[in-house]
Amino acid sequence: MLNIHNIEKSNFVNGNGNRFVIWVQGCDLGCKGCWNRESWSFEAKILKSADEIFKEILNQPNLDGVTFTGGEPFLQDSELTKIAKRVKSETKLTIQVFTGFRLEEIENSPLLKEIDTLVAGRYGQEQRVYNFSDTVWEFDNESVEVEICEDGTLIVTGYPQDEFLKDLKI
Ligand code: SF4
Repeated sequence: MLNIHNIEKSNFVNGNGNRFVIWVQGCDLGCKGCWNRESWSFEAKILKSADEIFKEILNQPNLDGVTFTGGEPFLQDSELTKIAKRVKSETKLTIQVFTGFRLEEIENSPLLKEIDTLVAGRYGQEQRVYNFSDTVWEFDNESVEVEICEDGTLIVTGYPQDEFLKDLKI
């Protein structure tokens, strides 16, 4: 089972085009400036199987790809690899992953073989973009997407500046 912080089935600021984005739950890297500290806890939040998530991906129209972010995706790489393998073999979607690990720290992970674009390294200090396939993604650390939920909750994704968050009163 994958422990998930949040899923957005259509998001435009976490990779090329329209993406199914999975924020996993749990991270102990403690990057300075991390603004997603709610995703640090390893307590179970939303539990779903790889098969369940893959079905949701198939049911979502007009996607360009799937993005894994966090929390720390490589701390749950066995479940994510199952999803990524099916995405790569059964669809034309791309896989993009944002990790706080440096490439040399995850080089033995099976997930790495399934990735088109990887953003690796501690947040705000040493992030690098690796384009492993024909897919080329330029790191854009200015885009922000704000979703207004039915209950009035705001979900902010992308790279918001502190001033922007203050203005939103989050
Ligand atoms: S890897 Fe991501 S979630 Fe973990 S501390 Fe760094 S920025 Fe935050």
